Amino acid sequence: MFGKSNKLLIVSMFLLFCFASCKTQEEKAAEIHNHAFTIDTHVDTPYQLLNKDFNISEYHAYKRGGSCVDFPRMKKGGLDGIFFAAFTSQRDRTAENIQFAREKADELIDSIYAACDKYSELAEVALNVADGYRLEKEAKRAIYIGLENGFPIGTEISEVERYFKKGVRYITLCHTSNNDICDSSTDSHGAEFDGLSKFGEEVVKEMNRLGILIDVSHISDSSFYDVIKLSTSPVIASHSCARAICDNPRNLSDEMLKALAENGGVIQMCILDDYVKAPDKNSERYKKEMELRERYRKMGKMTKEEEQKIWAEWKQLQIDYPKDKPTVADAVDHIDHIIKVIGIDYVGIGTDFDGGGGLKDCADVSQMMNITIELLKRGYSREDIHKIWGGNFMRVFKQVEDLAEKAKA
Ligand SMILES: [Zn+2]
Repeated sequence: MFGKSNKLLIVSMFLLFCFASCKTQEEKAAEIHNHAFTIDTHVDTPYQLLNKDFNISEYHAYKRGGSCVDFPRMKKGGLDGIFFAAFTSQRDRTAENIQFAREKADELIDSIYAACDKYSELAEVALNVADGYRLEKEAKRAIYIGLENGFPIGTEISEVERYFKKGVRYITLCHTSNNDICDSSTDSHGAEFDGLSKFGEEVVKEMNRLGILIDVSHISDSSFYDVIKLSTSPVIASHSCARAICDNPRNLSDEMLKALAENGGVIQMCILDDYVKAPDKNSERYKKEMELRERYRKMGKMTKEEEQKIWAEWKQLQIDYPKDKPTVADAVDHIDHIIKVIGIDYVGIGTDFDGGGGLKDCADVSQMMNITIELLKRGYSREDIHKIWGGNFMRVFKQVEDLAEKAKA
């Protein structure tokens, strides 16, 4: 039908067209990040802020220091917002330990404000949904604050409001052990309340009243169902994966995912290796890590020096016994599964960077777009990806804000 020269013309025109309009996956990913408010709902960066040698306004190569988050790297990774977790580990529930945790959490929160004040041209503490969108327009990073572990609250209900006033917008009810609020998914002694305690119920109601997001990551299955039943607002899992893909008590079963969707909440996929893919328990690395964790558990209250020593040992372990980490593709399998079970509207991302999170091909926040590239490869639309990168989470956040506002009126 076509002559030889015509064919050649058509082929060259096609190539020319492609050159002009066929973008690479990298370019498409960058464009998606440019047009969406993107948020990571869980990183443990505040501990880095306590180290006076760490300057969050500077670009750090991951390979040199092992830190995962700073403001310039957030920009490079196309990340607009982030939740900095003020994390305190669970200790015996004595008045002294609770006071210590309270002071630690306050110190971490204060360090977030100090860093944002110092580098206010780069980032600002964000207190609500509108702040996030405003800061995105100003090309500044939006830094939200979460409290990981309700331990510092102790049994003082007024502490919940005190943390709200300090800018805390989600509270992870517990951490690796049970506390006065609820049972943990990983307490070696098992259940204590079979879910939420009586005090925990009060905490949930108070969080609903104030408009603080309830974070169900780390809590036991019974605690999860108690929260879902009691909370009048949708809840979040700030950093958890799908148990059907990686059988870990920290992850959510399909039944839990369905209950979460029914509640209108959101699960923020975590990229911590053990939650993404089951570890090889026979490896030397696994044994060393368990030893360190055990020692850390036994230490009880730590001084600043002891704390820094354990962090240094942890970092050294990563160097001496580098983990064979899962990949972005392994992580995105969780997103695929969650979407298969409950649809596109209930999933987001909460990496746990600086708290153990990181993948072979997404080791720090500067490499976040690799997740987007994988989503594109799997055929997710721009609209889907916007939802995953923040649309879903911000919907829940707004709803929690609005419900608290409405209750006040
Ligand atoms: Zn955690």
